[in-house]
Amino acid sequence: MAISNKIQTCITRSSWIRKMFEQGAQLRAKFGDENVYDFTIGNPSVEPPKAFHNALKELADNPQPGMHRYMSNAGYDDTRAAVAEAISSRCNQTVEAAQIVMTCGAGGALNVVLKTLLNPGEEVIILTPFFVEYKFYIDNHGGTSTMVPTLSDSFQIDLAAIEQAITKNTKAIIVNSPNNPTGVIYPAEDLKALDALLKRKEQELGNQVYVISDEPYARLAYDGMDVPCIFDCIDNSVIVTSHSKDLALPGERIGYLAANPAMAGVDSFMEGVIFSNRVLGFVNAPALIQRLITPLQHESVDIGAYEEKRDLFYAILTDLGFEVVKPQGGFYLFPKSPIEDDVAFIEMAQKYNLLLVPGMGFGLPGYFRIAYCIDKEIIERSIPAWGKLASEVGL
Ligand code: PLP
Repeated sequence: MAISNKIQTCITRSSWIRKMFEQGAQLRAKFGDENVYDFTIGNPSVEPPKAFHNALKELADNPQPGMHRYMSNAGYDDTRAAVAEAISSRCNQTVEAAQIVMTCGAGGALNVVLKTLLNPGEEVIILTPFFVEYKFYIDNHGGTSTMVPTLSDSFQIDLAAIEQAITKNTKAIIVNSPNNPTGVIYPAEDLKALDALLKRKEQELGNQVYVISDEPYARLAYDGMDVPCIFDCIDNSVIVTSHSKDLALPGERIGYLAANPAMAGVDSFMEGVIFSNRVLGFVNAPALIQRLITPLQHESVDIGAYEEKRDLFYAILTDLGFEVVKPQGGFYLFPKSPIEDDVAFIEMAQKYNLLLVPGMGFGLPGYFRIAYCIDKEIIERSIPAWGKLASEVGL
């Protein structure tokens, strides 16, 4: 086979999530769909809001001349303006369309930003546990990942650990709140303290460190909590996000990046990201879906339904004696594995047709991840299986 050694190694080491997903397909074929409890993948089971289907129908009934042509690499002006307005309405900043680039999902936006910022060998700090693709994305653009732990009892930002990890080669830090896989939300005071730390380090070491705020779960926050606006906390920040989760459109690959107007050198950053979006081959985010999401910037899926599933699952696990930090947003739980070896634990779980992802897949062994973006009824039906698993490990 002629594929590169590097890609071969990446495939071998990569994604536990995909691996478990494939195993799930095998179990389903053997035991039937209704007897397999697949909590592996963050693929929302809910449908997009009605407003999306209305916009789709409206567009199909009234096609606009030229609506399928190439456009400016940054996206449609009115789409960028609608996104800028939505961000301005939740932040204490006025963001302009000029600071927005429409992208192919948050994954596309992350690649565009990393390509724009990184010189070969520069370091990007990622906080464990983290979304597994970060390491590949950083490597795509010649960077090096520096893994920094979060606080072990809360998964919150550990400023002292970040301070220790910053070198004169550090170019960026990726923060993800609400977090995949833990569901924690970083409070504004911690983000402001991070800003102060980065400014102090800049004085000391001379390099500017950019905060890349990966926030596809920003609208999925519970208990009445708001996710702090990163622009209000950190000057050198950029938002990367998508409508994969809040409008349940992951297959449509629509997202955007937004630069903080207060970022040092924001105009050259924007020039850079527009160029990178082009030469990564995305050219522009898909035309049709840009038009569809333009009027939907204040819409979202039913957040209450996710909160209900979080409450249900959290109660099931804690009643059985699992240790878990209660998620504040997103749609994942990240409990402690009751036995030290998280891979052995998820293999044990498979005997009861429970499909989970080991913490090592997120850079933090000793835990496991549950994705609860599935029908409530499946969660309820899985309760006896959880009971048997808990007994087997002595909970
Ligand atoms: N960032 C995080 C933390 C995610 O969990 C995901 C997807 O699950 C992404 C980025 C990528 O999202 P998208 O589908 O918008 O590319």
